[in-house]
Amino acid sequence: MTQQPITFAVAGVAGRMGRQLVNAILEQGHTLTGGTERPDSPHLDTDIARLAGRSVPIGETPSSDAVDAASGAQVFVDFTAPQATLSALASLQHTSVRAVVIGTTGFTAAEEGQVAAAADAFAIVKAGNFSLGVNLACALTRITARRLGVDWDAEVLETHHRRKVDAPSGTALMLGASVAEGRGEDLSAVRRAPYDGASAERREGEIGFSVRRSGGVVGEHEVSFASEREVLSISHQALDRAVFADGALAAALWAAGQPPGLYDMDDVLGFRAAGLV
Ligand code: NAD
Repeated sequence: MTQQPITFAVAGVAGRMGRQLVNAILEQGHTLTGGTERPDSPHLDTDIARLAGRSVPIGETPSSDAVDAASGAQVFVDFTAPQATLSALASLQHTSVRAVVIGTTGFTAAEEGQVAAAADAFAIVKAGNFSLGVNLACALTRITARRLGVDWDAEVLETHHRRKVDAPSGTALMLGASVAEGRGEDLSAVRRAPYDGASAERREGEIGFSVRRSGGVVGEHEVSFASEREVLSISHQALDRAVFADGALAAALWAAGQPPGLYDMDDVLGFRAAGLV
């Protein structure tokens, strides 16, 4: 993993994650070429470092143009919304950007295909969750599901703050996919629609998702495996959004040294090489 300072651009710099990323990048001694925001954002005239709550400005304000924001950048980090991420990937093809870290969640299957196609041009690390704890929870979930099979009912429960748009969360879907992979299945084939109504009984082998939206919760996830006689739960709580920014920076440092391709945190953390996937 390269530890050299690298040059970043950050998408959605006025967002909750954008501000965390700006702080992490500057605190870790890296360089920021700029950041993007929506053309109708009220923050286009505010210095990016000031937006992140820092006292020393960096002399850059958000731009609505990804190419302008990323001029000279090696890595583009994007925690925004699916359409914004896809449009940035399309426009950055002939720039200095070699690696892209994508934290945005809520992509449709077709949009996931567009991200995969862009990996011909960039080293892309995409993850529904960049925390070490969640990625370890996914590895444990995969191992557990492989051992228990469909005799134990697997359910995923998640809670997030009231402003979250997509549901279930990207992390809940990662955990569900880990159950399915452990069983040698594809999540799309066994994903259960929310339980609701008079004929909503559970069918064997389905993976159910329960969603709560509540106040300021940063992110809580639990996978439970239940037989008639015992319940095993693997759970995780994010206490601070900085954990995602730190993970995204670790991914960026790793990706800066990789050839084009689509990677995830199993690659960055070495889980794939260790046979945990
Ligand atoms: P947010 O709404 O606070 O921030 C998103 C920012 O993107 C906003 O400032 C918005 O104006 C900006 N934006 C929207 N469209 C844009 C465009 N076309 N160009 C430039 N900027 C644009 O949301 P958030 O809580 O920071 O989350 C952002 C995304 O990251 C969501 O999809 C969320 O689920 C995901 N997320 C992922 C992780 C992870 O570890 N993978 C962790 C937290 C959040």
